[in-house]
Amino acid sequence: MSRVPPVVLVFAGADPTGGAGIAADIETLSAFGVHAAPVITAITAQDTTELKQFTVTDPELVIAQARAVLEDMPVAAVKTGMLGGSANLAAIATILDDYPDLPLVIDPVLTTGAGTALSVDDILNAYRSLLIPRATLITPNSNEARVLAPDADDLDACAQQILSMGADYVLITGTHEPQPMINHRLYGNRRLIENIEQPRLPHDFHGSGCTLAAACAAGLALGAEVPVAVGEALRFTHATLAAGSRLGMGQHLPYRFFELKR
Ligand code: PLP
Repeated sequence: MSRVPPVVLVFAGADPTGGAGIAADIETLSAFGVHAAPVITAITAQDTTELKQFTVTDPELVIAQARAVLEDMPVAAVKTGMLGGSANLAAIATILDDYPDLPLVIDPVLTTGAGTALSVDDILNAYRSLLIPRATLITPNSNEARVLAPDADDLDACAQQILSMGADYVLITGTHEPQPMINHRLYGNRRLIENIEQPRLPHDFHGSGCTLAAACAAGLALGAEVPVAVGEALRFTHATLAAGSRLGMGQHLPYRFFELKR
Protein backbone atom coordinates (compact mmCIF):
# COMPACT_ATOMS: atom_id res chain seq x y z
CA MET A 1 0.00 0.00 0.00
CA SER A 2 1.50 3.35 -0.92
CA ARG A 3 1.13 6.35 1.36
CA VAL A 4 1.26 9.92 0.10
CA PRO A 5 3.91 11.73 2.17
CA PRO A 6 2.93 14.97 3.89
CA VAL A 7 4.63 18.08 2.50
CA VAL A 8 6.71 20.50 4.59
CA LEU A 9 7.46 23.91 3.09
CA VAL A 10 10.97 24.91 4.15
CA PHE A 11 12.50 28.38 4.00
CA ALA A 12 16.29 28.13 4.40
CA GLY A 13 19.70 29.04 3.07
CA ALA A 14 21.90 26.84 0.87
CA ASP A 15 25.10 25.57 2.53
CA PRO A 16 27.54 23.90 0.11
CA THR A 17 28.95 21.59 2.80
CA GLY A 18 25.57 19.87 3.00
CA GLY A 19 25.80 20.01 6.79
CA ALA A 20 23.34 22.79 7.54
CA GLY A 21 20.64 24.76 5.73
CA ILE A 22 18.43 23.41 3.01
CA ALA A 23 20.39 20.14 2.58
CA ALA A 24 19.98 19.41 6.28
CA ASP A 25 16.26 20.06 6.04
CA ILE A 26 15.71 17.93 2.95
CA GLU A 27 17.69 15.02 4.39
CA THR A 28 15.93 15.20 7.75
CA LEU A 29 12.45 15.39 6.27
CA SER A 30 13.30 12.55 3.88
CA ALA A 31 14.51 10.40 6.78
CA PHE A 32 11.05 10.84 8.35
CA GLY A 33 9.29 9.93 5.08
CA VAL A 34 8.11 13.51 4.64
CA HIS A 35 8.38 15.45 1.37
CA ALA A 36 10.45 18.68 1.56
CA ALA A 37 9.44 21.64 -0.61
CA PRO A 38 12.54 23.84 -0.32
CA VAL A 39 12.39 27.62 -0.81
CA ILE A 40 15.92 29.08 -0.96
CA THR A 41 16.23 32.34 0.97
CA ALA A 42 20.00 32.80 0.65
CA ILE A 43 23.10 31.16 -0.81
CA THR A 44 26.13 30.85 1.44
CA ALA A 45 29.75 30.07 0.61
CA GLN A 46 31.21 28.26 3.60
CA ASP A 47 33.24 25.25 4.58
CA THR A 48 33.13 23.29 7.81
CA THR A 49 35.27 25.95 9.51
CA GLU A 50 33.96 29.34 8.47
CA LEU A 51 31.45 31.37 6.49
CA LYS A 52 33.09 33.18 3.58
CA GLN A 53 30.16 35.10 2.11
CA PHE A 54 26.45 34.91 1.39
CA THR A 55 23.90 36.53 -0.85
CA VAL A 56 20.21 36.91 -0.04
CA THR A 57 17.41 35.93 -2.41
CA ASP A 58 15.24 38.82 -3.58
CA PRO A 59 12.09 38.80 -1.38
CA GLU A 60 9.90 38.78 -4.49
CA LEU A 61 11.54 35.55 -5.59
CA VAL A 62 11.05 34.08 -2.11
CA ILE A 63 7.36 34.95 -2.34
CA ALA A 64 7.09 33.52 -5.85
CA GLN A 65 8.75 30.24 -4.79
CA ALA A 66 6.49 29.84 -1.77
CA ARG A 67 3.28 30.77 -3.58
CA ALA A 68 4.08 28.31 -6.38
CA VAL A 69 4.22 25.47 -3.84
CA LEU A 70 1.35 26.62 -1.60
CA GLU A 71 -1.01 26.96 -4.56
CA ASP A 72 -0.05 23.55 -5.93
CA MET A 73 0.50 21.17 -3.02
CA PRO A 74 -1.30 20.36 0.26
CA VAL A 75 1.37 21.73 2.62
CA ALA A 76 1.08 20.19 6.11
CA ALA A 77 3.65 22.32 7.99
CA VAL A 78 6.18 25.10 7.48
CA LYS A 79 9.74 25.38 8.80
CA THR A 80 12.01 28.43 8.67
CA GLY A 81 15.80 28.48 9.02
CA MET A 82 18.25 31.12 7.75
CA LEU A 83 16.18 33.94 6.21
CA GLY A 84 19.05 36.30 5.41
CA GLY A 85 17.38 39.57 6.40
CA SER A 86 14.24 41.24 7.70
CA ALA A 87 12.81 41.85 4.19
CA ASN A 88 12.64 38.10 3.57
CA LEU A 89 11.25 37.50 7.05
CA ALA A 90 8.50 40.09 6.46
CA ALA A 91 7.69 38.55 3.06
CA ILE A 92 7.33 35.10 4.63
CA ALA A 93 5.15 36.44 7.46
CA THR A 94 2.86 38.07 4.88
CA ILE A 95 2.48 34.82 2.94
CA LEU A 96 1.77 32.86 6.12
CA ASP A 97 -1.02 35.33 7.01
CA ASP A 98 -3.01 33.61 4.25
CA TYR A 99 -2.50 30.19 5.91
CA PRO A 100 -3.23 30.81 9.62
CA ASP A 101 -3.82 27.13 10.43
CA LEU A 102 -0.51 25.80 9.09
CA PRO A 103 1.84 24.69 11.90
CA LEU A 104 5.05 26.76 11.83
CA VAL A 105 8.41 25.69 13.30
CA ILE A 106 10.98 28.49 13.57
CA ASP A 107 14.70 27.83 13.90
CA PRO A 108 15.75 31.42 14.69
CA VAL A 109 19.04 31.34 12.80
CA LEU A 110 21.04 34.47 13.65
CA THR A 111 24.69 33.46 13.26
CA THR A 112 26.90 30.54 12.28
CA GLY A 113 28.22 28.35 15.06
CA ALA A 114 31.36 30.52 15.03
CA GLY A 115 29.26 33.64 15.57
CA THR A 116 29.26 35.24 12.07
CA ALA A 117 25.97 36.98 11.24
CA LEU A 118 23.68 35.17 8.80
CA SER A 119 21.51 38.25 8.23
CA VAL A 120 22.24 41.40 6.22
CA ASP A 121 20.49 43.57 8.83
CA ASP A 122 19.23 43.38 12.41
CA ILE A 123 16.54 40.74 12.06
CA LEU A 124 15.66 40.46 15.77
CA ASN A 125 12.74 42.88 15.89
CA ALA A 126 11.24 41.33 12.78
CA TYR A 127 11.39 37.90 14.48
CA ARG A 128 9.81 39.31 17.64
CA SER A 129 6.98 41.22 15.98
CA LEU A 130 6.22 39.33 12.74
CA LEU A 131 7.19 35.66 12.92
CA ILE A 132 7.30 34.53 16.56
CA PRO A 133 3.65 35.60 17.14
CA ARG A 134 2.76 33.08 14.42
CA ALA A 135 4.94 30.20 15.71
CA THR A 136 3.65 26.81 16.76
CA LEU A 137 7.14 26.04 18.02
CA ILE A 138 10.42 27.98 18.10
CA THR A 139 13.69 26.14 18.78
CA PRO A 140 16.37 28.62 19.92
CA ASN A 141 19.58 27.40 21.46
CA SER A 142 20.32 29.05 24.80
CA ASN A 143 22.42 31.80 23.16
CA GLU A 144 19.66 32.62 20.66
CA ALA A 145 17.07 32.66 23.48
CA ARG A 146 19.15 35.22 25.41
CA VAL A 147 19.48 37.40 22.29
CA LEU A 148 15.75 37.21 21.55
CA ALA A 149 14.84 38.09 25.16
CA PRO A 150 17.75 40.25 26.41
CA ASP A 151 15.93 41.59 29.49
CA ALA A 152 15.33 38.14 30.95
CA ASP A 153 17.42 37.11 33.98
CA ASP A 154 17.69 33.42 33.17
CA LEU A 155 16.63 30.89 30.53
CA ASP A 156 13.25 30.23 32.20
CA ALA A 157 12.51 33.95 31.98
CA CYS A 158 13.73 34.01 28.34
CA ALA A 159 11.25 31.25 27.55
CA GLN A 160 8.40 33.14 29.25
CA GLN A 161 9.24 36.28 27.27
CA ILE A 162 9.33 34.38 23.98
CA LEU A 163 6.00 32.73 24.82
CA SER A 164 4.58 36.17 25.56
CA MET A 165 5.59 37.26 22.03
CA GLY A 166 2.96 34.75 20.84
CA ALA A 167 4.70 31.41 20.23
CA ASP A 168 2.69 28.36 21.35
CA TYR A 169 5.80 26.41 22.41
CA VAL A 170 9.49 27.23 22.96
CA LEU A 171 12.20 24.57 23.01
CA ILE A 172 15.46 25.97 24.42
CA THR A 173 18.30 23.61 23.62
CA GLY A 174 21.08 23.33 26.16
CA THR A 175 24.10 22.26 24.10
CA HIS A 176 25.86 25.60 24.60
CA GLU A 177 25.52 25.55 28.41
CA PRO A 178 28.59 24.45 30.40
CA GLN A 179 27.07 21.34 31.98
CA PRO A 180 28.22 17.73 31.64
CA MET A 181 24.69 16.55 30.67
CA ILE A 182 22.77 18.52 28.04
CA ASN A 183 19.46 19.82 29.30
CA HIS A 184 16.76 20.77 26.76
CA ARG A 185 13.64 22.52 28.04
CA LEU A 186 10.24 22.65 26.36
CA TYR A 187 7.85 25.40 27.48
CA GLY A 188 4.23 26.06 26.56
CA ASN A 189 1.04 27.32 28.16
CA ARG A 190 3.18 29.67 30.34
CA ARG A 191 5.04 26.81 32.00
CA LEU A 192 7.88 24.33 31.71
CA ILE A 193 6.39 21.24 30.11
CA GLU A 194 9.36 18.94 29.85
CA ASN A 195 13.00 18.76 30.75
CA ILE A 196 14.87 16.37 28.46
CA GLU A 197 18.43 15.30 29.28
CA GLN A 198 20.89 13.91 26.76
CA PRO A 199 24.51 12.85 27.18
CA ARG A 200 27.02 15.31 25.73
CA LEU A 201 28.78 14.02 22.63
CA PRO A 202 32.38 14.82 21.82
CA HIS A 203 33.03 17.20 18.88
CA ASP A 204 31.49 20.36 17.56
CA PHE A 205 28.72 19.91 14.99
CA HIS A 206 27.47 21.90 12.00
CA GLY A 207 23.78 21.59 11.18
CA SER A 208 22.42 20.19 14.44
CA GLY A 209 19.93 23.06 14.93
CA CYS A 210 18.61 22.71 11.38
CA THR A 211 18.23 18.96 11.85
CA LEU A 212 16.33 19.38 15.11
CA ALA A 213 13.87 21.97 13.81
CA ALA A 214 13.26 20.05 10.56
CA ALA A 215 12.63 16.86 12.57
CA CYS A 216 10.10 18.76 14.73
CA ALA A 217 8.35 19.98 11.56
CA ALA A 218 8.30 16.41 10.21
CA GLY A 219 6.59 15.22 13.39
CA LEU A 220 3.95 17.95 13.20
CA ALA A 221 3.34 17.21 9.50
CA LEU A 222 2.82 13.54 10.44
CA GLY A 223 0.18 14.59 12.98
CA ALA A 224 2.08 14.40 16.28
CA GLU A 225 1.39 16.79 19.14
CA VAL A 226 4.25 19.24 19.81
CA PRO A 227 5.70 17.51 22.95
CA VAL A 228 5.75 14.14 21.15
CA ALA A 229 7.29 15.65 17.98
CA VAL A 230 9.95 17.42 20.08
CA GLY A 231 10.91 14.25 22.01
CA GLU A 232 11.24 12.24 18.81
CA ALA A 233 13.17 15.07 17.07
CA LEU A 234 15.67 15.29 19.97
CA ARG A 235 16.25 11.52 19.86
CA PHE A 236 16.64 11.62 16.06
CA THR A 237 19.07 14.55 16.16
CA HIS A 238 21.21 12.94 18.85
CA ALA A 239 21.43 9.77 16.75
CA THR A 240 22.47 11.76 13.63
CA LEU A 241 25.25 13.42 15.64
CA ALA A 242 26.42 10.15 17.20
CA ALA A 243 26.64 8.70 13.66
CA GLY A 244 28.21 11.86 12.22
CA SER A 245 31.76 12.33 10.99
CA ARG A 246 34.42 14.90 10.22
CA LEU A 247 34.12 15.11 6.45
CA GLY A 248 36.10 18.36 6.16
CA MET A 249 38.74 20.06 8.29
CA GLY A 250 36.40 21.74 10.79
CA GLN A 251 33.13 20.82 12.45
CA HIS A 252 31.67 17.33 12.28
CA LEU A 253 28.53 16.85 10.17
CA PRO A 254 25.46 14.85 11.24
CA TYR A 255 24.60 11.64 9.38
CA ARG A 256 20.83 11.65 8.94
CA PHE A 257 20.47 8.22 7.39
CA PHE A 258 22.07 6.45 10.34
CA GLU A 259 19.50 3.70 10.05
CA LEU A 260 21.12 2.75 6.71
CA LYS A 261 24.57 2.37 8.32
CA ARG A 262 25.54 -1.26 8.76
N1 PLP B 1 21.43 27.67 7.81
C1 PLP B 1 22.53 27.95 7.10
C2 PLP B 1 22.43 28.18 5.62
C3 PLP B 1 23.76 27.99 7.74
O1 PLP B 1 24.85 28.27 7.02
C4 PLP B 1 23.85 27.73 9.15
C5 PLP B 1 25.13 27.77 9.86
O2 PLP B 1 26.17 28.02 9.33
C6 PLP B 1 22.69 27.46 9.84
C7 PLP B 1 21.51 27.43 9.13
C8 PLP B 1 22.67 27.13 11.29
O3 PLP B 1 23.37 25.95 11.48
P1 PLP B 1 23.27 25.08 12.84
O4 PLP B 1 22.22 24.04 12.61
O5 PLP B 1 24.65 24.50 12.98
O6 PLP B 1 22.89 26.03 13.91
